[in-house]
Amino acid sequence: MIKEHRAKKSRGSWVESANVEGCDFPIENLPFGKYYLTADVSKAGRIGIAIGDQILDLISLASCIDTPSEFESTFALLVQGDMNTWMATPDSIQMQFRSWITHLLEKENTLHKQLASALLPQASVVMLLPCKVGDYTDFYSGIHHATNVGKMLRPDAPLSPNYHWLPVGYHGRSSSLIPSGLPVIRPRGQTRASDGKPPYFQASRRLDYELELGVLIAKGNQLGTPISITQAEEYFFGMCILNDWSARDMQAWEAAPLGPFLAKSFATSISPWIITKAALAPFRTALQRSDPKQATLPYLDCVNNQASGAIQIYLEVLLQTKEMQTAGLAPYLLTQSEYSGAAYWTIAQLIAHHTSNGCNVMAGDLFGTGTLSGPTPESAGSLLELSQGGKAPISLPSGQTRTFLEDGDTVIMNAFCAHENAVRIGFGQCINTVVASH
Ligand code: CA
Repeated sequence: MIKEHRAKKSRGSWVESANVEGCDFPIENLPFGKYYLTADVSKAGRIGIAIGDQILDLISLASCIDTPSEFESTFALLVQGDMNTWMATPDSIQMQFRSWITHLLEKENTLHKQLASALLPQASVVMLLPCKVGDYTDFYSGIHHATNVGKMLRPDAPLSPNYHWLPVGYHGRSSSLIPSGLPVIRPRGQTRASDGKPPYFQASRRLDYELELGVLIAKGNQLGTPISITQAEEYFFGMCILNDWSARDMQAWEAAPLGPFLAKSFATSISPWIITKAALAPFRTALQRSDPKQATLPYLDCVNNQASGAIQIYLEVLLQTKEMQTAGLAPYLLTQSEYSGAAYWTIAQLIAHHTSNGCNVMAGDLFGTGTLSGPTPESAGSLLELSQGGKAPISLPSGQTRTFLEDGDTVIMNAFCAHENAVRIGFGQCINTVVASH
């Protein structure tokens, strides 16, 4: 259903693969990523910009063309691989840089033969995390997910009393953050015995994914100085897909009374390209809530946030088992969902709330939005919801069934923005395969 969106035609690039309809990385996107060349034994991280199925490699670009003087020093940061300092540079410089890159890559550019030497095929690199992530916080802003999960525990009052008043969250681990492509090792942990016997320690049997988006912070605030809701957008750099891997059996036993701990901290994976705030701008939309009469405290409310604080982003999750892969069966579509309809709180509200007590954020910090389930049962963003807590197995084209993930299963998450007045842009993918416990 969501693939039927008609989008505006791209202005076009001399990189032909960027002009293919449905391409994730047309000239209107220009996301940043970090990688090393497969042939480079030192695995030194380089920064580049995705265009079509290529990368504009900034080290190579610096050696084949003069940099305009107004951002020479900040461009040098990117060439040196320092993504975090770049993220904190003022929006005005970032916009000038974006205009320059757009000019270099646009169809009419007469220097394209010279510039082509700065391109690398995406297939020739290994993607890394896009920046140094100092801290990672996971929110719970997906209201349908919070309701679905809450119903399993408290059928009469699924949402906790604070839910409509503040963005619920917990502090996660950045040390176990991995890029798309790396395996996820099945965690071992403590699980409650169902018959009143002592808990036991074993490999998780209820391993799950959570479909989320990641928000990358542009710059830090001073400790003790909150970021106001009206300034919060200045602190937003860009987004990626985020999979918050979760061991449900461990989570159910350990979570009381302080919330998620080892059930979540074994792995969180993200897609490797950062889609910038500028690329997302055409997809801004009004904050839509099913209960418009619900009050919002002033520190989480402003006119701009209500008018354009949300972003329309389409999401999907696919699953491919090892057996499906062997049989040549395509990944099976489990879920389609949409961000602005799933999230109760906007990015600006997450930033304003996170810092409202004076807590400082830093350039490169990562926020997870929370699981972005849609309003219907089939648009749920986790297996916990899709299989109704493990009671309703999902049938796959291979004849297999799943309640939770098995070893060898590959989880694929896609995201893209599309509407008729803008050029479609994609996030790329977040793909990871589950492997057995060590
Ligand atoms: Ca989560």
